[in-house]
Amino acid sequence: MHEPVLVLNANFEPIHVCTTRRALGLMLSGKASLVLNGRGVVKTVSLNLPRPSVIRLEHMIRRPRPRVHLTKREILRRDEYTCQYCGQRVSYLTIDHIIPRRLGGHYGWDNLVAACPACNHRKGGRTAEQAQMNLLRPAKEPPASAIYFFARHLPENQEWKPYIEGW
Ligand SMILES: [Zn+2]
Repeated sequence: MHEPVLVLNANFEPIHVCTTRRALGLMLSGKASLVLNGRGVVKTVSLNLPRPSVIRLEHMIRRPRPRVHLTKREILRRDEYTCQYCGQRVSYLTIDHIIPRRLGGHYGWDNLVAACPACNHRKGGRTAEQAQMNLLRPAKEPPASAIYFFARHLPENQEWKPYIEGW
């Protein structure tokens, strides 16, 4: 009952992921309808219910355009777990301030990158420019696309892809 279910807004925009239990509650109360089953049935005492994979809300809900939260985990994910200076994928990555805080660098998407300990150490308290260390690509806020948001669910839920692409 805890398997993830993709929830689409009334206009088919993917908006979040809930549990099977929650999805069935929405469906039984008429707030959502089944879009994709593909997982068999849930048997209750009195009836068999489809086990939803994707549901769609009957009424449009308004919400602000989501943004990716700035956290260490999300910085590493944006940078594909790769040191942005030497391009190595190491298991232990640090977060580097491109312009160090001491020199006025702020805590923001455009000033933070994944760096391996060796590069972080080599760079020291200098800016990337001073240390003559080039970034693999400019640091910026990741796209607020649905595919980026729901990426971690896709390996397990390939059938969601058509509902997520393009948003
Ligand atoms: Zn490195």
